[in-house]
Amino acid sequence: MKYTLDTIPVLDAYKADCECPLCQLRIACEDQYVDSMMSSAYMEPDWRVKTNETGFCTRHFELMFERRNRLGLALMTHTHMQEVIRSLNEILQSGAPQGFFSFRSEKSSLPQKIRARVDGCVICDQVENAIHRYAYTVAQLYFTNAEFKAMFEQSKGVCLPHLALLLEIAEKTLSSAQYRAFQSALAALELANLKRIEGELEGFTLKFDYRNADKPWGNSRDAVERAINKLMGACVGEAAQMPAHND
Ligand SMILES: [Zn+2]
Ligand SMILES: [Zn+2]
Repeated sequence: MKYTLDTIPVLDAYKADCECPLCQLRIACEDQYVDSMMSSAYMEPDWRVKTNETGFCTRHFELMFERRNRLGLALMTHTHMQEVIRSLNEILQSGAPQGFFSFRSEKSSLPQKIRARVDGCVICDQVENAIHRYAYTVAQLYFTNAEFKAMFEQSKGVCLPHLALLLEIAEKTLSSAQYRAFQSALAALELANLKRIEGELEGFTLKFDYRNADKPWGNSRDAVERAINKLMGACVGEAAQMPAHND
């Protein structure tokens, strides 16, 4: 895979000083791709071939369903469904019992084939490409942009899925000396911030003890959502919210 730099969005995400800049970028990408899918992409033949073949995951069907363009969604889902019925027909035919000995092995592969047919998502594929590019940009900017390096070192780290991604991309694309430096900076940052949130989460639980009722919340009020988002990637609370739309 060839990576390209995407400096401006990465700098902007780090300026926002959130728990995971890559999650913030991921949500912005999802919003943008859902937008383009619902506004025009579904009318373009090339895109339609992709959506017919691959379809969408539950999250992205859900996000498109929340938009007002129900006809666009109906048209896309209709031709995708025709494609699914065609392949499901083949899958189910191939699973028809042909004789006593073939029956068991054919039967056992059917669930896998059906699951594989509904696996995959056009929007997830696009988001994944963009986030790989952003992770590559983070690793590169750390060594080439002093302003970014300072922001990175004072940032709150990233969520654990994006920690794994950053390390994976850094290992593939940096020299071994650079990778070691990046890995140790990221490890220190990540562990310090995990401990910070763990302490804030403990603070949240202690507020439920009547003896602490008068103590200030400090940074604990939204510690539950921040802890979950740090562990799993932004999925609850304000950090996981999609921008409002009127379309
Ligand atoms: Zn993240
Ligand atoms: Zn998806």
